[in-house]
Amino acid sequence: GDVLRLASVSKVYDKTGIPVTALKSVNLSLAPGTFTAIMGPSGSGKSTLLHCASGLDQPSSGEVYIAGQQMTFGNETELTRFRRGRIGFVFQQFNLLPSLTVRQNITLPSRLEGKRVDRQRLEAVVERVDLLHRLDHHPAQLSGGEQQRVAIARALVSNPKIIFADEPTGALDTHRAAEVLDLFDQAVREFGQTVIMVTHDPIAASHADLVLFLVDGQIVDEMARPNPATVA
Ligand code: ADP
Ligand code: ADP
Repeated sequence: GDVLRLASVSKVYDKTGIPVTALKSVNLSLAPGTFTAIMGPSGSGKSTLLHCASGLDQPSSGEVYIAGQQMTFGNETELTRFRRGRIGFVFQQFNLLPSLTVRQNITLPSRLEGKRVDRQRLEAVVERVDLLHRLDHHPAQLSGGEQQRVAIARALVSNPKIIFADEPTGALDTHRAAEVLDLFDQAVREFGQTVIMVTHDPIAASHADLVLFLVDGQIVDEMARPNPATVA
């Protein structure tokens, strides 16, 4: 079945008394082991879509299903528990804590839930992002590309089914961006994980199997990458 399904998801922000409709009845189904990019102009609802699909934000209406299970937006503890092992998040600005080491940044979300990260699991994930030599360093000692790889390791350590990434290459040069995209490719092709990424960068989007174009809170177009095996 689908690893992610949005059924008529809408989002209206109404804090100021002037309602802003950020998403209009969005339907979306993604198969496991696929890489999807979301593109669209600024303010078209890309981040809102990612936030509603990942439980960082609550839709005004509609349903979100992760691997067939409906996300319930009860209390924060429940939501955090639901996300664990299902959802990982990677942000443009890395969101690492400067006072913690790489190891501590990666294991913090688990620790906050009272779970100890298995040492072998930690090392396997850190090896995957090629940072074993950096485990006891602090974020300020690392390059931007390395910091984003720490954030990816943090997202991967609970072995999520879906990785949500919001402009993950936006703060990186071409070379570092390529490393991040390689890691997502690997997550999809080798580990069968699902990546859904908001991006402005056509090169980043070219890694995706499916590109969705969002305008005014609606998916107005989509483009599937031709399967290389079927191209003559
Ligand atoms: P994008 O990621 O495509 O730039 P967003 O999802 O950030 O778009 O925003 C979609 C619309 O929702 C915009 O009109 C934006 O101003 C509005 N919006 C986003 N977040 C909030 C918020 N927290 N409160 C009010 N309006 C918001
Ligand atoms: P110990 O079980 O005595 O902590 P380990 O061999 O498991 O020893 O870990 C070695 C180092 O890695 C120690 O500095 C330990 O604090 C750290 N470490 C191990 N697991 C974690 C974890 N889940 N989060 C943070 N640090 C960890």
